[in-house]
Amino acid sequence: MNDFKDKEPLIRINNLYKNFGDLQVLNDITENIYEGEKVVIIGPSGGGKSTFLRCLNVLEDPTSGQIIFEGKDLTDFKIDINYCRRNIGMVFQQFNLFENLTVLGNIMLAPTIVGNSVDKETRKNNKEASKYNKEAYINYNIGIIKDNLESKIIIEDDKINNYNTLLLELEKKYKNTSDSKKQANLEKRINNLKEKIETSKILIKEYTTNMDNSSCYDKIIEYANSEEFKIKANANLEKFKAKVEAIKAKNEEIKAKNLLIIKEIEPELKIVEEQWAKTRKEIERRGKIFIAYDKKLSSKKTKLQTKLENAERTIDRLSVPELEKYIDYKYYNKKVRIINIKKQAFELLNRIGLADKANKYPSTLSGGQKQRIAIVRALAMNPKVMLFDEPTSALDPEMVGEVLQLIKDIADTGMTMVIVTHEMGFAKEVGTRVLFMDRGVIAEQGTPSEVFNNPQSPRLQEFLSKVLI
Ligand code: ADP
Ligand code: MG
Repeated sequence: MNDFKDKEPLIRINNLYKNFGDLQVLNDITENIYEGEKVVIIGPSGGGKSTFLRCLNVLEDPTSGQIIFEGKDLTDFKIDINYCRRNIGMVFQQFNLFENLTVLGNIMLAPTIVGNSVDKETRKNNKEASKYNKEAYINYNIGIIKDNLESKIIIEDDKINNYNTLLLELEKKYKNTSDSKKQANLEKRINNLKEKIETSKILIKEYTTNMDNSSCYDKIIEYANSEEFKIKANANLEKFKAKVEAIKAKNEEIKAKNLLIIKEIEPELKIVEEQWAKTRKEIERRGKIFIAYDKKLSSKKTKLQTKLENAERTIDRLSVPELEKYIDYKYYNKKVRIINIKKQAFELLNRIGLADKANKYPSTLSGGQKQRIAIVRALAMNPKVMLFDEPTSALDPEMVGEVLQLIKDIADTGMTMVIVTHEMGFAKEVGTRVLFMDRGVIAEQGTPSEVFNNPQSPRLQEFLSKVLI
């Protein structure tokens, strides 16, 4: 336990107080939680354990005190709440699954909205692989084609060879690539397409995100991030740099020409405007005053003005690369992002053997299954710390084991954990440190053997005598 303490704590809790009206629930708690620790909290009901966890996860605002997580004070109202949500996972006694969402929906919701750290990693990788992409999409000529395998539109599209790169978006009905017939058909079509287009072109296979067959996912991502892809992409990039440079040079030429036009027009327009202003006359008609100018000068002025605006506008337009019109790089990244989140959701479900429940609703699951889903839902954010508030208290006895086993497995991965539990056997086995919380304070703490075998305070002795039968 002590080897943790050489490092900066992951969570530093300083003088934490929480009152509900006159009721003081947390009374000056100062505690450090170190990376990799499994802190078990035990104590009598009403002692403040849940409130303590809820403060750590910013579900409650402490009355005073600080919670420093990775150098950031979570009690500071200015802190980005998503920062906590991404990094601190919480599992509740009552599961708290979203009943209106499927199991998959439950797991994917937060990473999709808030983004998890793997997602961040993916974005980084994508950036790497798509340093090309971004540059290419912006500066180079990328065509996005919708797959229409029946009508052979792709093959007959004579514009194909105008693009440097083709992004192929498959039709939904070809999503099930485990169907060998469809798969074969698809491969054939893609090969046909490859024959039709010049060898220098790249074909990116885009699968639809509606695909539930998780076995396909690796393939796409591999393809998008593969060395082969990068090498091809970079080779193409070099080729088309010259082309883009030429376009840029041409743009500069046009820009210079238009600047000259502007230079000529501006003084001329000014003179005309001055002359025109001098012709200003007030005319009274039926008791009303009208302003009139020389019509000839007015139309001359309008023409010059239009010419000037056009020249200015061309320069504006030229600042945007000509080729940008073919491009939507966000489109690509967004899809890959969702695919990755889904892929991870399936990995998690496979890990707990519940992949077949992906499209089921929580109401159809047993308590043990619900809680395991709730746990992987929290894991899907790739948190740095997991908080468990009596995760097995609402379960039928025969389901306690499967949930505790999952928590143990997660503990073995090195995850930092804070667990409130009444399962004393589990606490002894998994805990690296045990806190005894009573009446809003941490009344005693130590290693599991210290706390369970050699309790110091009468309160702890009394508590243990009740729970350890
Ligand atoms: P534990 O989890 O150790 O059983 P809790 O943190 O749930 O304890 O509760 C500690 C005390 O705070 C209890 O007396 C409880 O009634 C009170 N409490 C908890 N939440 C609230 C709330 N939102 N409003 C008022 N009192 C609360
Ligand atoms: Mg509680």
